[in-house]
Amino acid sequence: MLYRRRKLDLPRGELDTPVLFPVRNIGKRSSDNTPTYVGTIPEFSAAMINARSIRNRDPMWQRISNGVTLREEMDVPEDTIVFADSGGFDFANEEVDTTPAKTLDTQSQLDADILGTVDIPLSRENRAAENQRRIDQSIEYALKASDHHDGVGLLFASVHGYDPETIRNNIQYLEKNGEFDGYALGSMVPIRTDYKKITKLILSARNATDKHLHVYGLGGLVYQPLLLYLGVDSFDSSAFIRSAGNRNYLIPGFGGEEIRNIEELDRLPCPCPVCGQKELDEIREDRTALTQHNLWALATELRRFRYVAESGRDIEEYLDLRFSGNEVTKRAYETAKQQMRRLT
Ligand SMILES: [Zn+2]
Repeated sequence: MLYRRRKLDLPRGELDTPVLFPVRNIGKRSSDNTPTYVGTIPEFSAAMINARSIRNRDPMWQRISNGVTLREEMDVPEDTIVFADSGGFDFANEEVDTTPAKTLDTQSQLDADILGTVDIPLSRENRAAENQRRIDQSIEYALKASDHHDGVGLLFASVHGYDPETIRNNIQYLEKNGEFDGYALGSMVPIRTDYKKITKLILSARNATDKHLHVYGLGGLVYQPLLLYLGVDSFDSSAFIRSAGNRNYLIPGFGGEEIRNIEELDRLPCPCPVCGQKELDEIREDRTALTQHNLWALATELRRFRYVAESGRDIEEYLDLRFSGNEVTKRAYETAKQQMRRLT
């Protein structure tokens, strides 16, 4: 069992892990359409933001340069913990338009608590040689960031690789040649349906370092328990926003359900502050309410896992049950379990 609880010592105080960073799309569009959750869902007093898209949003960046804080722009309390990634995800299709020093400068102007190094994601379509170039470039960027980092905020090196050896070697190389507070595994989203591979990659990262391990982009309802089981310390997700956009209602233990499939229901199977009060009809018409519920669903999933662990119940037994409803995820979990057995 690799599940673990720790604390991150951040400029704004301690953060209990494992933790989910809900992704805010501030800077991505004319306005941030994430509904209020900080202060509403206690364990989500943190957010993942894209440093590049904020920097590239001229009016917003001018306000921030003139003294308005990022948290004011986001309309959240000043003690909200922010993980600023480099926006490297956009470099899957776009040219890299920043440097490690410039990204660090942006991240520190945003008063980020956690800084992700500049990285270039891999693509399934890219040839091996091109992906290798991207892997090497990301390592170089991470080491440059390590040189420039002034020590304010934690620095997580972004790591890529499509096989366990590459991941392990990269982390060991970075550990030896740079100074990082943790590692963040990228390029997982394009292969997200290949659970077996994802499981192997995460396990190789987990075994390569005892430091904080973040996984980019996989914090949705189905992956969350799997990541916790594999000893991942933090993850992020925009699934709550995307699902709401697709009229998808997230249910812990089940996954997503299209609202049109359950239209006959008056009351939804969730007691969260949204569903506990409103009827399905109201929630269907209110995307903000649906988004808020979806975040509660992610919180509930996390709370259940913690409950199972803290109460001394058998986590594998819980996960057997948790994944029994879906053949694909069930097989994925079985694979993870076998790999875990081999480790011990
Ligand atoms: Zn709910």
